[in-house]
Amino acid sequence: MRFLADEMLKKTARWLRLIGFDTLYLERVSDAKVLERAVKEERVLLTKDEKLAEEAKALGVDVVLLPQDGIEEELKKILGKYKLKPAFPEKTRCPECNGTLERKKLEEVKEDVPEGSQEFSERFWKCSLCGKVYWEGAHWENIKRVLAQIEEH
Ligand SMILES: [Zn+2]
Repeated sequence: MRFLADEMLKKTARWLRLIGFDTLYLERVSDAKVLERAVKEERVLLTKDEKLAEEAKALGVDVVLLPQDGIEEELKKILGKYKLKPAFPEKTRCPECNGTLERKKLEEVKEDVPEGSQEFSERFWKCSLCGKVYWEGAHWENIKRVLAQIEEH
Protein backbone atom coordinates (compact mmCIF):
# COMPACT_ATOMS: atom_id res chain seq x y z
CA MET A 1 0.00 0.00 0.00
CA ARG A 2 1.59 3.24 -1.15
CA PHE A 3 0.27 6.73 -0.59
CA LEU A 4 0.54 10.18 -2.08
CA ALA A 5 -0.26 13.03 0.28
CA ASP A 6 -1.35 16.32 -1.22
CA GLU A 7 0.41 19.61 -0.48
CA MET A 8 -1.70 20.37 2.62
CA LEU A 9 -0.80 17.10 4.28
CA LYS A 10 2.85 17.37 5.20
CA LYS A 11 2.20 16.28 8.77
CA THR A 12 0.09 13.35 7.62
CA ALA A 13 2.85 12.25 5.26
CA ARG A 14 5.45 12.40 8.02
CA TRP A 15 3.28 10.31 10.32
CA LEU A 16 2.57 7.68 7.68
CA ARG A 17 6.27 7.32 6.98
CA LEU A 18 6.94 7.07 10.68
CA ILE A 19 4.52 4.18 11.05
CA GLY A 20 5.92 2.35 8.07
CA PHE A 21 4.10 3.40 4.92
CA ASP A 22 5.64 4.51 1.66
CA THR A 23 4.23 8.01 1.27
CA LEU A 24 5.11 10.46 -1.44
CA TYR A 25 4.70 14.12 -0.58
CA LEU A 26 4.88 16.73 -3.32
CA GLU A 27 5.22 20.43 -2.70
CA ARG A 28 4.49 23.23 -5.13
CA VAL A 29 3.19 21.07 -7.94
CA SER A 30 -0.07 21.40 -9.82
CA ASP A 31 -3.07 19.17 -9.16
CA ALA A 32 -2.54 17.71 -12.62
CA LYS A 33 0.99 16.62 -11.67
CA VAL A 34 -0.25 15.15 -8.39
CA LEU A 35 -2.84 13.10 -10.26
CA GLU A 36 -0.30 12.03 -12.85
CA ARG A 37 2.02 10.65 -10.15
CA ALA A 38 -0.81 8.88 -8.36
CA VAL A 39 -1.82 7.12 -11.58
CA LYS A 40 1.73 6.31 -12.65
CA GLU A 41 2.85 4.94 -9.29
CA GLU A 42 -0.52 3.43 -8.35
CA ARG A 43 -0.63 5.36 -5.11
CA VAL A 44 -3.66 6.05 -2.97
CA LEU A 45 -4.30 9.79 -2.95
CA LEU A 46 -4.79 11.44 0.43
CA THR A 47 -6.48 14.82 0.38
CA LYS A 48 -8.98 17.05 2.13
CA ASP A 49 -9.90 18.69 -1.16
CA GLU A 50 -13.21 17.31 -2.43
CA LYS A 51 -12.68 18.59 -5.94
CA LEU A 52 -9.28 16.94 -6.23
CA ALA A 53 -10.73 13.74 -4.77
CA GLU A 54 -13.42 13.68 -7.47
CA GLU A 55 -10.91 14.30 -10.23
CA ALA A 56 -8.74 11.48 -8.92
CA LYS A 57 -11.65 9.05 -8.74
CA ALA A 58 -12.55 9.88 -12.34
CA LEU A 59 -9.02 8.74 -13.30
CA GLY A 60 -9.41 5.50 -11.40
CA VAL A 61 -7.18 6.60 -8.51
CA ASP A 62 -8.08 5.28 -5.09
CA VAL A 63 -8.70 8.21 -2.71
CA VAL A 64 -9.08 8.75 1.00
CA LEU A 65 -10.89 12.03 1.64
CA LEU A 66 -9.60 13.01 5.05
CA PRO A 67 -11.60 14.58 7.86
CA GLN A 68 -10.82 18.11 9.02
CA ASP A 69 -9.84 16.85 12.48
CA GLY A 70 -6.49 16.11 14.01
CA ILE A 71 -3.84 13.64 12.98
CA GLU A 72 -5.33 10.81 15.06
CA GLU A 73 -8.61 10.98 13.13
CA GLU A 74 -6.78 11.15 9.81
CA LEU A 75 -4.66 8.10 10.57
CA LYS A 76 -7.66 6.17 11.87
CA LYS A 77 -9.48 6.80 8.65
CA ILE A 78 -6.56 5.79 6.42
CA LEU A 79 -5.57 2.70 8.39
CA GLY A 80 -9.19 1.72 8.95
CA LYS A 81 -10.08 1.84 5.28
CA TYR A 82 -7.32 -0.61 4.30
CA LYS A 83 -7.15 -2.50 7.60
CA LEU A 84 -3.52 -1.57 8.09
CA LYS A 85 -1.56 -1.69 11.30
CA PRO A 86 1.15 0.77 12.29
CA ALA A 87 4.58 -0.86 12.11
CA PHE A 88 6.55 1.44 14.36
CA PRO A 89 9.44 1.24 14.67
CA GLU A 90 9.92 -1.99 12.69
CA LYS A 91 9.13 -0.51 9.30
CA THR A 92 9.57 3.19 9.96
CA ARG A 93 10.66 5.18 6.92
CA CYS A 94 12.45 8.50 7.02
CA PRO A 95 9.85 11.18 7.89
CA GLU A 96 11.92 13.72 5.95
CA CYS A 97 12.31 11.98 2.63
CA ASN A 98 10.45 8.63 2.63
CA GLY A 99 13.72 6.70 2.38
CA THR A 100 14.06 3.33 4.07
CA LEU A 101 15.92 3.19 7.38
CA GLU A 102 18.77 0.84 8.19
CA ARG A 103 19.56 -0.33 11.71
CA LYS A 104 22.94 0.87 12.86
CA LYS A 105 25.20 0.30 15.81
CA LEU A 106 26.01 3.29 17.96
CA GLU A 107 29.64 3.17 16.83
CA GLU A 108 28.53 3.63 13.22
CA VAL A 109 26.48 6.78 13.83
CA LYS A 110 28.09 8.17 16.96
CA GLU A 111 28.99 11.56 15.50
CA ASP A 112 25.35 12.21 14.56
CA VAL A 113 23.87 11.42 17.98
CA PRO A 114 24.07 13.89 20.89
CA GLU A 115 25.96 12.47 23.85
CA GLY A 116 22.94 12.50 26.15
CA SER A 117 20.95 10.38 23.71
CA GLN A 118 23.74 7.90 23.15
CA GLU A 119 23.21 6.43 26.60
CA PHE A 120 19.44 6.64 26.58
CA SER A 121 18.86 4.89 23.26
CA GLU A 122 19.57 1.28 22.44
CA ARG A 123 18.53 1.46 18.82
CA PHE A 124 19.76 3.66 15.99
CA TRP A 125 18.77 4.00 12.38
CA LYS A 126 20.12 5.80 9.35
CA CYS A 127 18.16 6.85 6.29
CA SER A 128 19.41 5.10 3.16
CA LEU A 129 18.49 8.14 1.05
CA CYS A 130 19.25 11.36 2.94
CA GLY A 131 21.52 9.94 5.61
CA LYS A 132 19.61 11.36 8.57
CA VAL A 133 20.17 9.45 11.81
CA TYR A 134 17.37 8.51 14.21
CA TRP A 135 17.30 7.11 17.72
CA GLU A 136 14.90 6.50 20.56
CA GLY A 137 14.59 10.10 21.66
CA ALA A 138 12.12 12.16 23.62
CA HIS A 139 9.56 11.95 20.77
CA TRP A 140 9.30 8.22 21.26
CA GLU A 141 6.75 8.38 24.09
CA ASN A 142 4.62 10.90 22.24
CA ILE A 143 4.54 8.68 19.16
CA LYS A 144 3.56 5.66 21.25
CA ARG A 145 0.77 7.66 22.89
CA VAL A 146 -0.72 8.72 19.57
CA LEU A 147 -0.49 5.16 18.24
CA ALA A 148 -2.20 3.79 21.37
CA GLN A 149 -5.10 6.18 20.74
CA ILE A 150 -5.39 5.06 17.15
CA GLU A 151 -5.31 1.37 17.97
CA GLU A 152 -7.91 1.71 20.71
CA HIS A 153 -10.36 2.58 18.03
ZN1 LIG B 1 15.76 10.46 4.63
